[in-house]
Amino acid sequence: MGPKRERIGPAIARLRAAHPDAAIALRTGSELELLVAVMLSAQTTDVNVNRVTEQLFRKYRRPEDYLAVPEEELRRDIYATGFFRQKARALRGTMRMLIEEYDGRVPRTVEELVRLPGVARKTANVVASELGHPQGVVVDTHVRRLSQRLGFTRHDDPVKIERDLVRLVAREDWGLFPHLLIWHGRRVCLARAPRCENCVLVDLCPAARV
Ligand code: SF4
Repeated sequence: MGPKRERIGPAIARLRAAHPDAAIALRTGSELELLVAVMLSAQTTDVNVNRVTEQLFRKYRRPEDYLAVPEEELRRDIYATGFFRQKARALRGTMRMLIEEYDGRVPRTVEELVRLPGVARKTANVVASELGHPQGVVVDTHVRRLSQRLGFTRHDDPVKIERDLVRLVAREDWGLFPHLLIWHGRRVCLARAPRCENCVLVDLCPAARV
């Protein structure tokens, strides 16, 4: 097994070939929908968010629409994503700021996005990355697990893992890299029983069990 600096390039190339469809799993049709879906995805699955937003995005098309109904109604409309009280409050606060400070548009940088009420750094990173301005590597549970197994980090804390990954991964791949690991984590490198025998990274992975 070579050093991680030598393994990262081939690993990304092989994952790219193995998962050409790797992309964000949230279904959205605009920058506003992207922001809302990512905000709703905290503490729940993308599948669940997609189920809710299918209806939601028909009713709420502009930032003003989120403020035009009582908060109680918005809570009901996003109830199934969980933490609906906090999320409804965050959505309305965010929409107000978009209207007042950004002319109703979604800002593109992490610095601007984290100013929006209820938008955490992770949410901001995902949105900025999807809008073509990744300012870091998004670390979720799959990214953490695979980075550790592949020996790209020894840390457990997402902030420290991200620090390791931004040093290792070329900047132009910061946006794609998490998607590759997420899809590989869902399809092959499963949490409990990784399918090492079917893995394209088997000769690059210190944790391979074959
Ligand atoms: S070889 Fe096994 S542990 Fe390593 S990335 Fe592939 S599935 Fe995961």
